[in-house]
Amino acid sequence: EAKSRGRNNVQVFRPAMLAATTERARTAAELRTALQNAELELVYQPIIALATGEAIGVEALVRWNHPTRGVVMPGAFIPIAEEMGLIVDLGRSVLEQAIAQMRAWMDEAPQLPAFTVHVNLSATELRRPGLDRDIRTCLDAHGVDPSRLVLEITETVLMTRGSEEARVLRRLRRLGIQLQIDDFGTGYSSISYLRDLPAQTVKVDQSLISTIDSDAAQAQFVEAVLHLITSAGLSAVVEGVETARQAELLRRMDCAYAQGYFFSRPVAPDRVLGLLAGFPAARG
Ligand code: C2E
Ligand code: MG
Ligand code: MG
Ligand code: MG
Repeated sequence: EAKSRGRNNVQVFRPAMLAATTERARTAAELRTALQNAELELVYQPIIALATGEAIGVEALVRWNHPTRGVVMPGAFIPIAEEMGLIVDLGRSVLEQAIAQMRAWMDEAPQLPAFTVHVNLSATELRRPGLDRDIRTCLDAHGVDPSRLVLEITETVLMTRGSEEARVLRRLRRLGIQLQIDDFGTGYSSISYLRDLPAQTVKVDQSLISTIDSDAAQAQFVEAVLHLITSAGLSAVVEGVETARQAELLRRMDCAYAQGYFFSRPVAPDRVLGLLAGFPAARG
């Protein structure tokens, strides 16, 4: 392999490549242990209905509480979990934790209006046989209604009509689970899938949002994207809202839901009920 790339390339690239490979292998091995030792934890970020300012749900985001490296963010281990065949176990653990947590919140605050928990699902998980049955079993075991669960599926998973993934999504939908397309606007898929899929909401990627408060053309573009989503009969969520001005612009564009540091950073599970009760937040 090295020879075929020529001597110069070998000298320049090989040490770095080797280090990266070793690092990935080490991370994968540690991740296996982490799954057994329950080192993966979830934090939760609220999703806000812009018309009322109320929190309607929370997104579960995984964190790896590494014994020596501290908190590791998902960008540093989800791709490795995918590649090393660990994503199915990881996803199972995340779903189980999120559903058990929803049960705990419902018991602790039965008076709070019903809210949803969003769980990110990778492409590999969606292809796993028995996914819908496992989710159903888990919801039943905890006595959580399927309507309380939203599965976030990235646009890159989306897929042709009649594919196995599309069938799984329809089965999940029939169970009463809600489906949301994540990171909309970053993939290369045809927009026609918007009308084909059994999703209810589409989450517009934060990369489209970051400049709307300074760039009028970008704001217009985002407004058109929001119209496209509602024209397909879906509701729009915008992620990565960081400023009051962005939130106000999106509210005026009739964007239904928003999420981002402006409303709240992701928080530990024991802080969620207090946080939700605080919306609509008084803001000057
Ligand atoms: P995502 O699902 O698109 O999640 C949104 C990411 O943006 C999260 O990063 C969140 O913390 C971050 N974020 C939220 N508000 C803001 C904001 O106002 N500004 C900025 N700059 N960022 C914001 P995080 O937690 O690092 O997760 C990154 C990605 O990792 C997620 O993107 C998702 O694709 C993946 N991921 C996270 N948890 C899971 C999981 O349990 N399972 C799977 N399969 N993937 C996960
Ligand atoms: Mg997401
Ligand atoms: Mg996203
Ligand atoms: Mg994203």
